[in-house]
Amino acid sequence: MFDSLSDRLGGVFDRLRGRGALTEADVRQAMREVRVALLEADVALPVARQFVDEVTEEAIGQNVLRSVTPGQQVVKIVNDALVRMLGGDDPEGVELNLNVAPPAIVMMVGLQGSGKTTTTAKIAKRLSTSSMTGRSAKKVLMASLDVNRPAAQEQLATLGTQVEVATLPIIAGQQPVEIARRAVQAAKLQGFDVLMLDTAGRLHVDQALMDEMKAVADVAQPQEILLVVDSLTGQDAVNVAQNFSEQVPLTGVVLTRMDGDARGGAALSMRAVTGKPIKFAGVGEKLDQLEAFHASRVAGRILGMGDVVSLVERAAESIQQEDAERMANRLAKGQFDMNDLRSQLAQMKRMGGLGALAGMLPGMKKAQAAMDATPGSDKMLVHLDAMIGSMTVKERAKPELINAKRKIRIAKGSGTTVQEVNKLLKMHQEMSTAMKKIKKMGGLKGMMAMLG
Ligand code: GDP
Repeated sequence: MFDSLSDRLGGVFDRLRGRGALTEADVRQAMREVRVALLEADVALPVARQFVDEVTEEAIGQNVLRSVTPGQQVVKIVNDALVRMLGGDDPEGVELNLNVAPPAIVMMVGLQGSGKTTTTAKIAKRLSTSSMTGRSAKKVLMASLDVNRPAAQEQLATLGTQVEVATLPIIAGQQPVEIARRAVQAAKLQGFDVLMLDTAGRLHVDQALMDEMKAVADVAQPQEILLVVDSLTGQDAVNVAQNFSEQVPLTGVVLTRMDGDARGGAALSMRAVTGKPIKFAGVGEKLDQLEAFHASRVAGRILGMGDVVSLVERAAESIQQEDAERMANRLAKGQFDMNDLRSQLAQMKRMGGLGALAGMLPGMKKAQAAMDATPGSDKMLVHLDAMIGSMTVKERAKPELINAKRKIRIAKGSGTTVQEVNKLLKMHQEMSTAMKKIKKMGGLKGMMAMLG
């Protein structure tokens, strides 16, 4: 996801940053390239046009061109515009609105095959697991209103068992509105905090589907109506979302299959076209593969600046307690040497492999490209580990000691090249800078507190 867009933009910005001074013509040329990159990523034309206009105006105005680091400033302007395009950073906007007298009702809508049922179970799991939200665990009930697709209700029941979330008992022959009414009753009587209603999908947007959704919404009065769309369908996903948002009062969108090789256009145009925030991203078939959608983190990934916050969050979920404490202590001191990098790399394997993490680490994408490793393969981890293994104890503790001669020795010792050693050093340096930033933010604990 976003890989080719990220590469294209990276190329444009490397050229911009590579020069000391910039003229208006340089910026205009770069922005033409940005526009092409966005269109190739399948961003809707009016959205791409407006984006480029805004950024160009800001970049050639003010004192950007006369500043000491004009290229850097243009990248910052693009970053900020991307964050706005993705819906801005609204800390309240990401999580669901469940602040009502229980049960809070979340209604899921979308086309068949979009990933609606899976996403219903993923959100239920997230809400009922406090370590995933940092909030208290909610008691969740799920109900399937899909009476069209055979076994849809059973599918949700099976998922419920897997995520240990209750599902409404199935009564054969009941219609969606009746099921919704029964589900609301059951949730009230049995003291559930949240009721999730999985509605029926269709192959295409049709009026009968819309009418059914409206009838269900009338009965259930949901606080959240989330539309699930498949990001692999690109522009179609945006059209579907527009259609739905004209007919039902959506409160947000969930983009599924963000782990696939979608070009990213759906994610980038969704907010501008529908006016609805993207709340979550599905990043795999497993039931814990759902991420809260944070505009600034996604923008950071697209611009290759890494997404340290998501990385730390994921780390906190999967690393052992002692490791976490040791890491927190090191971070508190702003320390990060090759030994730390090595143990991080080892942890990465446990956290779902490189493919899942590469985009989150500053500098990792480029390092991966340089090592000619297939994304997601662990070949790169092996190389990195071998290089660190070929360093002396001193070098590991103080990587700044590594000069040209030492680089040649390390490359020979690990069966790699000096270029790869350089990439490793660069990566270490960028991560070390990121860790210092985390320290400034009050360390890992402060950061976790901030994440709510
Ligand atoms: P529904 O018809 O909309 O309810 O779709 P389902 O929930 O049954 O999902 C259809 C298929 O998509 C299933 O095989 C899911 O495992 C898969 N799926 C759902 N979300 C994701 C995702 O985020 N990533 C990937 N790779 N697969 C997904």
